[in-house]
Amino acid sequence: MTFATLGLIEPLLRALEALGYQTPTPVQAQAIPAVLAGRDLMAAAQTGTGKTAGFAVPLLQLLTMEGPKVTANSVRALILCPTRELAEQVHASVAQYAEHLPLTTYAVYGGVSINPQMMKLRKGVDVLVATPGRLIDLFRQNALKLNQLQTLVLDEADRMLDLGFSEELANIYRMLPKKRQTLLFSATFSDDIRLLAGQMLIDPLSIEVSPRNVAANTVKQWVVPVDKKRKAELFVHLMRKGKWKQVLVFAKTRNGVDALVDKLQGLGINADGIHGDKPQATRQRALDRFKASEVQILVATDVAARGLDIEDLPMVVNFDLPIVAEDYIHRIGRTGRAGNTGEAISLVCADEVNMLSAIEMLTRQTLARKMEQDFEPEHRVPDTDASGQVVKKPKKPKKPKTSGGGGKRNLGKWVESGEVAAEPSIKPVRKVPVFNTGPRKKK
Ligand code: AMP
Repeated sequence: MTFATLGLIEPLLRALEALGYQTPTPVQAQAIPAVLAGRDLMAAAQTGTGKTAGFAVPLLQLLTMEGPKVTANSVRALILCPTRELAEQVHASVAQYAEHLPLTTYAVYGGVSINPQMMKLRKGVDVLVATPGRLIDLFRQNALKLNQLQTLVLDEADRMLDLGFSEELANIYRMLPKKRQTLLFSATFSDDIRLLAGQMLIDPLSIEVSPRNVAANTVKQWVVPVDKKRKAELFVHLMRKGKWKQVLVFAKTRNGVDALVDKLQGLGINADGIHGDKPQATRQRALDRFKASEVQILVATDVAARGLDIEDLPMVVNFDLPIVAEDYIHRIGRTGRAGNTGEAISLVCADEVNMLSAIEMLTRQTLARKMEQDFEPEHRVPDTDASGQVVKKPKKPKKPKTSGGGGKRNLGKWVESGEVAAEPSIKPVRKVPVFNTGPRKKK
């Protein structure tokens, strides 16, 4: 199959060829004809599957072939993304695909001045990529009208809900014309997403390109059990031992990012960090330097790393496991892209056993554990498997304390697995949007 056989017009074929896309990926092969036929879409496709071109390319074709010229302050296609990084990345791809088309594209997101965005929207834009909050601000300030909207894309819809955008989505829903095409992309399909899809889509075509919620199988994944306080030490040890060149590291919190970056920089390691507290320009600079291999280790929180697209990224390290299991799939989706192989290593301490169990249940696999010599944890990480069971070993009787014996490590060995109280699993708070504006008509 080629892009030409999918019915794409010449200017798009030329753009794809220039990008080196030779054959459509599975999601593109299914999505492109369906979008061209005007259907609503509900696609389960994770990052790295080529989903962006899957919706953007046919959407650009429809905008070129159908519909009136864009008028002042209007948009004809709206792509909603959870973060500014993803919005920028999606916009960069859209602009590349649209290179030979007479269409205008633009991206708007928060954290930067709204005035230039308002100016830019004055003449109208064919394709607008936006984060939900800024879109609403622009709409409320009359800088944006949605009455010309032909197509709405919800990209990484699960992530938008996880980040608490459900109210914004409900507000945007009320601003939309009833007659439109809607395409929903999500890495995972929770009940909330299905509910959202039920309200937003009409007779959608369902596309599922990889087994539901299963991480890309081109990524070799394993876990190294370790005590919490020795994670940084273990990271440096593994990095040196494995001669890691370019690693994206995920930490749970902003403080965690800063602490690890400080530690690595203190050891003379070329590291930088990105998180939501840093200004957009600083985040972008760190990202660009990492992409250009000027920074060896980039430490990020989940939110900041969203949308990061680095070709051939060989390795992802989960310094902390994510609180939301789905994020594990997003994280490791940064490696093993477009058929390349990658590695994803998780440094897991006893506290994180429930998160590990949730990830194994979601990905339907038991992650291999590799103990690193001299880093065996004092607090054993209880056994887990894909059934969601955390196997707690029965308490062993404590050895009597002997004076002067053992030291810390031996003492630790006495405190066996069953005694380590694992944290209760933390569930993300998700509000489900309530849409009550009545049924909408198909285009
Ligand atoms: P996405 O899942 O949209 O983030 O795309 C992942 C990566 O695959 C991006 O770097 C795209 O440029 C690339 N890509 C998308 N479609 C194709 C294709 N048909 N052939 C080769 N690379 C592609």
